[in-house]
Amino acid sequence: MSSVFKKIIDKEIPAEIVFETESVLCFKDIHPKASLHLLIIPKKEIVDLQSVQKEDLFLIGEIIEVAQKMAKAFNVEEGYRLVVNNGPLSGQEVPHLHFHLLGGKPL
Ligand code: 5GP
Repeated sequence: MSSVFKKIIDKEIPAEIVFETESVLCFKDIHPKASLHLLIIPKKEIVDLQSVQKEDLFLIGEIIEVAQKMAKAFNVEEGYRLVVNNGPLSGQEVPHLHFHLLGGKPL
């Protein structure tokens, strides 16, 4: 079943998109937990980190490259966190793999 993030990818619901490639989307978290709180997601529908296959590893590398680029663009490259929750027990709410990029002051 499609998640809310699939709807954002398909531009069916709005989001504050800050960067996009053919395979990766980066947008602002709707409930930020830090002064910079971005979500970086693959456009491919991957449910969670545990579902990542060998064939997805290049894509995961692209996500890390986007994180580096965004950290630089938003001036937090000296210190930021890249966080992935895996599964409902960890607090993962949206069943579409996403990396939280958190920088600046906690809110
Ligand atoms: P999780 O708890 O699954 O790791 O994180 C999901 C994140 O997605 C949360 O930080 C939440 O605020 C964010 N989020 C949920 N729905 C939306 C939405 O419709 N738009 C945006 N921009 N962020 C969302």
